[in-house]
Amino acid sequence: MLVQEEVYTENAEKNPILALINKQKAFFAKNNTKDVETRLKMLAKLRKSIENNEQEIYEALHQDFRKPAFEAYATEIAITLDEIDFISKELKSWARTRSVSSSLLNFPSQNYIIPEPLGVCLIIGAWNYPLQLTLAPLIGAIAAGNCAIVKPSELASASADVLEKIITETFEKEYENAYVAVVKGGVDVNQALLKEKFDKIFFTGSTAVGKIVMRAAAEHLTPVTLELGGKSPCIVAEDADLDLAAKRIVWGKFLNAGQTCVAPDYIVAHKNIRSLLIVKLGKYITEFYGENPQDSPDYPRIINDRHFERLSKYLTTANSSTIVIGGKTDIVGRYIAPTVLDKVSWEDEVMQDEIFGPILPVLEYENEDEMIAILKSKPKPLALYLFADNDKLEKKVLDNLSFGGACINDTISHLINPHLPFGGVGDSGMGAYHGKGSFDAFTHYKGVMKKANWLDIPLRYAPYLGKLAFIKQAFKWKP
Ligand code: NAD
Repeated sequence: MLVQEEVYTENAEKNPILALINKQKAFFAKNNTKDVETRLKMLAKLRKSIENNEQEIYEALHQDFRKPAFEAYATEIAITLDEIDFISKELKSWARTRSVSSSLLNFPSQNYIIPEPLGVCLIIGAWNYPLQLTLAPLIGAIAAGNCAIVKPSELASASADVLEKIITETFEKEYENAYVAVVKGGVDVNQALLKEKFDKIFFTGSTAVGKIVMRAAAEHLTPVTLELGGKSPCIVAEDADLDLAAKRIVWGKFLNAGQTCVAPDYIVAHKNIRSLLIVKLGKYITEFYGENPQDSPDYPRIINDRHFERLSKYLTTANSSTIVIGGKTDIVGRYIAPTVLDKVSWEDEVMQDEIFGPILPVLEYENEDEMIAILKSKPKPLALYLFADNDKLEKKVLDNLSFGGACINDTISHLINPHLPFGGVGDSGMGAYHGKGSFDAFTHYKGVMKKANWLDIPLRYAPYLGKLAFIKQAFKWKP
């Protein structure tokens, strides 16, 4: 008979990815990751390693797309450290076996739920927040007691190198790559990973690749969390505080040069305030980034030439729409100015796919119900933003539209609250994470009933003659 390690290393010699997965499976099978103290210790080590590499993180993000240190700290480092702190504080209580009530039909018994790690997990990251989007799910995977293989995006290659350094420093000395490992590479590496059987796949990326991931996962019945994107609308009502709305929209849209999954993709503004809103958008773009944003140290660049070309095309082929702010592009350094398009129609090219860049189309509405009906006919977005001072409209929007998450009178900020689940619905994804959601995403809740032997009620056993009325009563009885 083969011992466990031999089973796992069979056929793996010619396939390094399979060898790595098998190594982690063998490590997991020995319950090495299940002890809660070990999980807490590794989260603390990961925290330390992130802090120790703060400077390297700034440099890598600057190299990848000129991300300013302020944004790197706020959106990559601080958010990740907060997640570790929040989860570490709650972990013992989440990981505990919980007793639950019994039922009359199972009397006498004890019933409980055991949170159990899933096993070896694959975490595939996106490039736009290359550290946060891989580390946040990893924190959930470790907290829940799993092993993990992390595949950072090849497009932010300097950040992928730092991520590898952070993870190696945390795990290598003690566990080599049996606990957590980084696998770098492009689409071919991802495809090779997706061929293998994992116990969970956590994917962040586009809707199109999300479908590829889910198809591959289906082959092995592997559960998936899909954190995807989409066109997140931003509604601005007639009674909104326009100045604050413009300020918060400009912040959320042009942060990371619009390369944010939850960035407002487009504005639908009430017809009476559309023009004034655009003036105010211009005012804040200048206030934040100066007369020439190309000179601003606070304005990032587009990640690569392919995305630069894709975004530039929106500006050269704008159909009915007009560039009212920005519009300048420069292939040298891949610069695209913060741009606002007016007179946009739903049929325009820019309204067909997620923009994922610093181009902000403005559409107008007159009738609330018609506007809501149009948004309802679109794929469910990852986020929705409403600027209004109007409880009735707020209720109508929240009652009628489905989306991953929302802010009322702000943009993006909902995702920094660990008490709120973060994830999409429909085309924008499935499953959620952050805080307890991250623990749940990597946990199976095992329900157990332990029956006592001192009593055995004969009602359930055949022959059933004369028992139907009694079983009906038993099902009706609720404690
Ligand atoms: P992407 O889907 O192009 O790439 C994501 C990952 O998939 C990369 O690691 C890449 O190597 C891999 N990949 C690409 N093509 C593949 C293929 N054919 N087969 C297998 N693997 C493949 O996404 P991206 O460009 O990195 O990110 C942009 C998208 O991600 C946007 O749609 C954005 O909205 C979304 N996003 C979502 C979130 C979220 O939290 N929901 C966060 C960031 C980005």
